[in-house]
Amino acid sequence: MTEKLALVGIGKIARDQHIPAISANPDWSLEATVSRHASVDGIASYTELQSLLDARPDISTISLAIPPQPRFAYAEAALKAGRHVMLEKPPGQSLAECFALESLAREMGVTIFATWHSRYADCVPDLKTWLASRDLKRLRIIWKEDVRHWHPGQEWIWEPGGMGVFDPGINALSIMTEILPHRVHLREATLQYPENRSTPIAADLRFTDPKGADVSAVFDWRQEGPQTWDIEVETTDGNARLSLGGSRLEINGELIREGSDNEYPNLYARMSDLVRTRTSDMDLSPFIHVCDAYSLGRRVVISPFHY
Ligand code: NAP
Repeated sequence: MTEKLALVGIGKIARDQHIPAISANPDWSLEATVSRHASVDGIASYTELQSLLDARPDISTISLAIPPQPRFAYAEAALKAGRHVMLEKPPGQSLAECFALESLAREMGVTIFATWHSRYADCVPDLKTWLASRDLKRLRIIWKEDVRHWHPGQEWIWEPGGMGVFDPGINALSIMTEILPHRVHLREATLQYPENRSTPIAADLRFTDPKGADVSAVFDWRQEGPQTWDIEVETTDGNARLSLGGSRLEINGELIREGSDNEYPNLYARMSDLVRTRTSDMDLSPFIHVCDAYSLGRRVVISPFHY
C-alpha cells in the first residue's frame, strides 16, 4: 500500500536526494511539503508543520530534512499527532532529545527512524561481511572535504548543535559502527575550533578497541582539490579500503565493487519496511562517539574561518 508522506525542510538535501528517492519509490506518495521559504512545483505546501498536521490526517509519515537544531520540536509535534517520523542525520542536537523522541514514538505506537544515509552506501554490507570473519588490526577513517563547497552559506553548521566537522564525520562513524563486529569507545580527541566559530573545523579521534586494534579517525573540513571519504581496514587476513563514502571497495588492492548512489532510495525502502511492520530503528551509536568527542576532546583554537 502507498503511504502518504510530507517532507519538511526544502533545502539542499531535500532537493538533491529526498525528493528523487521518494518519487522513484511506489511505496511513497509525496503529498505535501513544509518549508518557511520554499515549495515544490505541483505539491501542496505549508509553512508550518502544525497546520499540515491539522489539515491532513491522511498523511501518515513525516520526513524531516531540516538542520538538527529545530528538529526535536518538529519530530515531537509529528509523533504527538500519531505520525511516523523519519529523521535526517544526526537525529537530534543532543542524545537526551533522541531518547525522548524514541520513547514518545513507543508511547504513540508509531515508527521512528534515525537515518544514517552512509550506512546505506552500496559497499558497506560487503565490507561488513568480509570483516565479520577476520581479526581487525587497524581501522583508520580519513574524512576530508571542503566545507566551502559542500555547505556554502550554511551558518547552522557553525552554531551549537550544528556539529561542525562532525556533520560529515558522523557519516563515517555511522559506517564504522555498522561494520565493526564489536563496540569501541572513544579514548581521546583533539578538536580544532576557528576562533570565530562555535563548532570544530577539524578533529582527530582515537578509540579503545576491546580486542586491541588501533582504531582512529581524522576529520577535516579544509580539504581543497580531491575529496577523501575513506576507511582503511587492516586485518590478520588481508586489507580493505572503502572509499567514495562507501560506494567503492578494494580488498588487497583489487577492486571488488564500485556501486552507484543508492543511499536515499535504500533509506526510503527501509522506512517503508519499518512502517509496514510498525517497528523503529533508532541506533544512536554514531552520535555517542560525537558526544564523547565533545566531552573528552582537547580544544585547540585556530585562525578564524570565513566563507
Ligand atoms: P539546509 O539546506 O541548510 O536546510 C534545509 C532546510 O531546513 C532549509 O531550506 C530551511 O527551509 C529549513 N530550516 C533551516 N533552519 C530552520 C529552522 N531553524 N527551523 C525550521 N526550518 C529550518 O540544510 P541541508 O544541507 O539540506 O541539511 C539538512 C539536514 O540534512 C542536516 O541535518 C544535514 O546533516 C543532513 N544532510 C545534508 C546533506 C548535504 O549534502 N547538504 C547530506 C546528507 C545529510 P526554510 O527556511 O524554507 O524553512
